[in-house]
Amino acid sequence: MDAEVELRQLAATINVCTDCRLHLSRKLAVPGEGPLNAAVMFIGEGPGFHENEQGRPFVGAAGRFLEELLAGIGLTREQVFICNVVKCRPPGNRDPAPDEIEACSKYLDAQIRLVNPRVIVTLGRFSMARYFPGARISALHGKARQIGGRTVVAMYHPAAALHQPSLRPQVEADFAALGPLIDAARVAEEPAPYSADPTQLKLF
Ligand code: URA
Repeated sequence: MDAEVELRQLAATINVCTDCRLHLSRKLAVPGEGPLNAAVMFIGEGPGFHENEQGRPFVGAAGRFLEELLAGIGLTREQVFICNVVKCRPPGNRDPAPDEIEACSKYLDAQIRLVNPRVIVTLGRFSMARYFPGARISALHGKARQIGGRTVVAMYHPAAALHQPSLRPQVEADFAALGPLIDAARVAEEPAPYSADPTQLKLF
């Protein structure tokens, strides 16, 4: 099937998904958005209040900061793929539960397979844990790793810098360093088809 059609069908499936309890309290699911050929995918945690209202990722305060950070490296949100580990809002913005993350992982896997991004940026600890189980964001942020032929970089969640202003210069510095990483990844070999095999992890 045409990948564009498959991505649209995936979003339609996510919109009516009932595979975990989060569907009971959602207003709108938030599948994620961006072009099929995006070189970079940002993976956040889960929809918040505004995302649940609009069905779009990162449209609240954290989203505005993300857009500012993207602009700093010459990108707009329309040029990147933006999604989350869980596609429905955890009530009261609580942390997503392990079984909710597990139930939703098939959708994120499919998005990575279809978009096949050269660079994956994890925003916050839940998406970081997918690639770097047990790692501490304070030690890992901003460092690039090659995983399965892709560059994977863990970043602080933009909301963390909004809640803790002392983190802001670090987040800005990590983003500034992302620009050259993306440029390098664009000219690198096309990533092999997606594999979730953690043994493919090696230092960049
Ligand atoms: N925070 C996230 O992790 N994802 C969103 O979509 C919005 C805020």
